[in-house]
Amino acid sequence: MSADETPSAATPAHDSYDAVVVGGGHNGLVAAAYLARAGQSVLVLERLGATGGAAVSTRPFDGIDARLSRYSYLVSLLPQKIVQELGLGFAVRKRTVSSYTPAVRGGRSTGLLVGGEGTRESFAALTGDGREYEAWQRFQGMTRRVAERVFPTLTEPLPSREDLRARLDDADAWRALFEEPIGVAVEENFADDLVRGVVLTDALIGTFADAHDPSLIQNRCFLYHVIGNSTGDWDVPVGGMGALTDALADAARATGAEIRVLHEATRIETDGTRAEVTVRSPGGERVVGARRVLVNASPQALAALLGDEPPAPAEGAQLKVNMLLTRLPKLRDRSVDPHRAFAGTFHIAEGYGQLATAYREAAAGRPPTAPPSEIYCHSLTDPSILGPGLASRGYQTLTLFGLHTPARLFAADNGTTRDALLGATLAELDAHLEEPITDCLALDGDGRPCIEAKTPVDLERELRLPGGHIFHRDLSFPYATGETGRWGVETAHANVLLCGAGAVRGGGVSGVPGHNAAMAALGR
Ligand SMILES: Cc1cc2nc3c(=O)[nH]c(=O)nc-3n(C[C@H](O)[C@H](O)[C@H](O)COP(=O)(O)OP(=O)(O)OC[C@H]3O[C@@H](n4cnc5c(N)ncnc54)[C@H](O)[C@@H]3O)c2cc1C
Repeated sequence: MSADETPSAATPAHDSYDAVVVGGGHNGLVAAAYLARAGQSVLVLERLGATGGAAVSTRPFDGIDARLSRYSYLVSLLPQKIVQELGLGFAVRKRTVSSYTPAVRGGRSTGLLVGGEGTRESFAALTGDGREYEAWQRFQGMTRRVAERVFPTLTEPLPSREDLRARLDDADAWRALFEEPIGVAVEENFADDLVRGVVLTDALIGTFADAHDPSLIQNRCFLYHVIGNSTGDWDVPVGGMGALTDALADAARATGAEIRVLHEATRIETDGTRAEVTVRSPGGERVVGARRVLVNASPQALAALLGDEPPAPAEGAQLKVNMLLTRLPKLRDRSVDPHRAFAGTFHIAEGYGQLATAYREAAAGRPPTAPPSEIYCHSLTDPSILGPGLASRGYQTLTLFGLHTPARLFAADNGTTRDALLGATLAELDAHLEEPITDCLALDGDGRPCIEAKTPVDLERELRLPGGHIFHRDLSFPYATGETGRWGVETAHANVLLCGAGAVRGGGVSGVPGHNAAMAALGR
């Protein structure tokens, strides 16, 4: 990136644009890049000092050269089509292991290692025979077929429910994923509590629900976690999540989009054909004209900007922890090398029964006694995020994503609850380690341990995620309903579109709503 391409807080160059994009999250940048490529004049307004929203890399530990994906960390839903069409200089790398789940059976430390060589043997050693592995294979085959049929539709106009069902052409899969709570399929297909839990976690990432929730929010979450790029694989963004945002910002600027950081939209007025956006920046307040406004901010923010009725409140339910270690801890399960176990998703306290208990406790207003979480080490797959001094000394990054910690638990005292929950979460991890994880933490330039934790309340404050909800709102099934327009990005105002996670088929690092809003704006 050359000096004149760095994010600019300078005043926008023009009084009026074809499109003003409110928010420079990755979706806003995707929308801007598509529109600018189509020859439109585009202004992106980002209220923070950098673009990316929840898809950024930062050096969170003072004096330490480690660029961590601070919020989102793995990529699955970003279509290769978008990477190619925008010519992004961005790549992902496969993890050598899909997941590892430590367990204690008969008083002995053991675990389930999934992905790569030894998966069948690991299932057999844990569950006693080959049945769970065969069930796993069958279930994976089912989700893979669904993925191949559903994923390509995400970047097309919304299909109707009937169209999608016909496209799936699999009555059992439709029933399991779209009609019955996912808990039914999990219990029908698997017998082992730990295996059931591993399957269920895909339904609970960023979603506060029980396996049998009649609303099916857990099914929607499950669906988006198994269809990415028609494989459902979750891959490592090379260079960290900020590398994607940087590539998108470069692509948008290269085709003429203006990106202004420290510029907050405070009001949108529209008559359906022309809009005026009030912008606050270090230089003062001004009004910018636009034929169309694409809003990357949340549905809540959209309503506030337009003076419309706010949508139903959203609530996030996760704890995000970033750590830098001087070494990976040794595991009590001696059969697996920590370099393999931490390369995939490392599940903690995520047995099926444990997940149900944690949900019940949190729904009753208590932090889970055994908080479920999952961990992964980015630097094992992509050490490029570590400065040379750290990489050569064997330092590793660790990301922890905790489940079932809804924002309401932190409302009274965010700091104290955060500390208590972090302690309880790390204790669950420690139960499977030969040494406490805190003994492995690196120290920052001031001698403090390299660990930071973000609750939903922190995320709302830092990123304006409504209630700290990582997807802006609960995910929706990827088909048209009475309220959706052609692309799932339309609003009550003809020239205002939602181009962020809150659109139908938004949520996650995907660029999908950004792409779809651009297509809607271009009349496709
Ligand atoms: C802790 C965490 C972990 C996650 N992990 C993953 C993961 O591993 N993989 C995955 O796929 N997804 C993950 N997600 C979800 C994913 O990151 C988000 O769904 C996605 O990044 C949303 O992108 P977006 O561009 O739609 O919105 P955002 O990233 O929220 O960006 C919106 C932007 O709009 C700006 N903005 C808001 N209001 C205004 C205004 N009035 N004026 C100007 N600018 C404004 C904000 O500052 C922000 O930059 C995670 C999210 C979190 C928080």
